[in-house]
This record gives sequence, C-alpha cells and structure tokens, in this order.
Amino acid sequence: MSRPLIHILATGGTIAGVSHTDHPAGRYTAGVRPVAPLLAAVPGLDDLAELSADQILSLDSKDMRPADWQSMLSACRRALTSPAVEGVVILHGTDTLEETAWFLHLTLPAGKPVVLTGAMRPADHPEADGPANILDAVRLATLPEARDKGVLITLNGRIHGARSLRKYHASQLDAFSSTQYWNLARADGRFAAHDLAPLPRVDILAGYAGAPACLVDACINSGARGLVLALAGQGSVPESWRAALARARDKGIPVIRASRCSGHIPRNGNADDDGEGYLTAGDLPPLKARIALMLALAAGMEQPEIQALLPTL
Ligand code: ASP
Repeated sequence: MSRPLIHILATGGTIAGVSHTDHPAGRYTAGVRPVAPLLAAVPGLDDLAELSADQILSLDSKDMRPADWQSMLSACRRALTSPAVEGVVILHGTDTLEETAWFLHLTLPAGKPVVLTGAMRPADHPEADGPANILDAVRLATLPEARDKGVLITLNGRIHGARSLRKYHASQLDAFSSTQYWNLARADGRFAAHDLAPLPRVDILAGYAGAPACLVDACINSGARGLVLALAGQGSVPESWRAALARARDKGIPVIRASRCSGHIPRNGNADDDGEGYLTAGDLPPLKARIALMLALAAGMEQPEIQALLPTL
C-alpha cells in the first residue's frame, strides 16, 4: 500500500537542541541538530508516511521574527499546493509556537492538515520527548479527520487547535493548554488570499501597577504602527496612560484593549472605547490580538473594519 507523503519543515527549537556537556543547570542550545538525524531517531516513522523535509530555519524560537513567519508561510503554501503532499508538519521551538501557529492559522487556506510540534527536552536527552511528538505529528497529518481544522498542534500526547493554544508551563513536558477540543477546531484562513509582505510592527504593552506612560510614547515614536495593551482585569486602562494613548490615537495608530486574564472584554465596558477610540480584543489574548492587528494592517484594513473583525476571530 502506498504511504501518504508528508512534508516536514524544520525551524530549530529544543526538539533540535543539544546539551552543553556537564552544565550544572542543564543548559543546552536550541536549533542545532539538522532535520535528517531528528527524523532518523524516530522509530516507526517510515511505516506511517513517506517523508520529504526542508530545513528552513535553525533557531531558538525566542528569536523568531515576523519575517520568519512569512518564510514559513511561503514554504507551507508551496508544499500544500503540490498534489503529492498530503500534509505538512512543522518542527518548532515551544516558546513562541503559539504565535506561529496562530499566524499560520489565519494565513493558510483550509484543506490539508498542517501540524506543529516541538519538545521540552533537547534531542540528546536520554528521555527526549521529541521523537514521540514527531511520530504523533506525522500520524495526525495523515488523518482525514485533521483536514479543514486549520493549524493543529500536538505535544505530549495531546492535540490542540491554534485559537486557544497557550504555553503555560516553563519546563514540564505537558507545557501547553487549550480550551477547545481539537476535533471542534475550524480552519480560518481569513488572510489566506492576501499578499502580506511586509508585516507592520505592532507592540504589546503590559499594564501593571506603576507602568509609566512614557512606554506608550516610546513605542509610537520608534515606529510602532499599532499597539496592543495587555491590561489588568477587564482591560483597565491606567489613568496615567490616557494622554499618551490619545496622542497615539491622534496619529491614527490603532490601540487594542486586551486583558492579561482570560475571558471576554465587553466593548465600552470599563472604558469609553467609542469616545477614546480604542479597539477591543474580545477574548483574544494579547499575543494573538497583536498578530491579528499586524495582518489586518498589512491587508490595508481601516480601524472600523478591524474592530468588526476581532470578535469574529
Ligand atoms: N527556547 C526553546 C525554543 O523555543 C524552547 C523549546 O523549544 O522548548 O526554541
């Protein structure tokens, strides 16, 4: 029986990490080992699928830039248009995996499965989790049930959709959570038809006790095209920020109120959004509202259109 062809895109991460010998705190360098030996270390992989692979990046995902998301998007689009390829698996560092997954979820068309995976232990760890995660990811990418779900993520035996995925633990193997069963996930691809280069800079500012307003001006004066505020509670804007945020508004810079907590931010709830000109994120967390705003601005959307979009994501 012929095996499905799955295309692997390797980007680095701990899954490709190598330990510093005898480092007392277990330090390692991410993104060292190339994709071929990573795949060769997975027992049973060849039985599941025929594989092709590209090493598109070799980095620690803390250093991932929006330009790298775009390279990944182009590589995915290329692979998915090949009639022979049944699905794509991306090997990625776990630190910013939720950002890449959300970016691709909004920019890839529905259809063939796209699955991200990573690992919490480096490739040379005696109990490395990478091989089992790769096996699971390739298996998932071959399943008809994984089609039309948008970007899926599998780690530590669990499957997540991109919308609510969050890395919540810094070190344990079960580092990711989501609130949606993967089989209820739906493809989005809202920006799949757009030519998006280049993505504008959007900054996230945290609201915390004593956060100085000069941070708002610093972002705007150094070239941010949009701001996402990761605010306390229901998106409470510090009084001391209001003048600086008004300056941003007067320059036409969109400002999104989002929350540090989970849950929904009602529009005009605890701020006069219409009067102050704020956009509201609904229940999108700051990291994901930022990516949505970058894409919306790159697609040439105006603020009313962006506000209409946010609650639908
Ligand atoms: N720092 C690593 C990375 O994101 C962590 C990991 O992959 O688990 O590349």
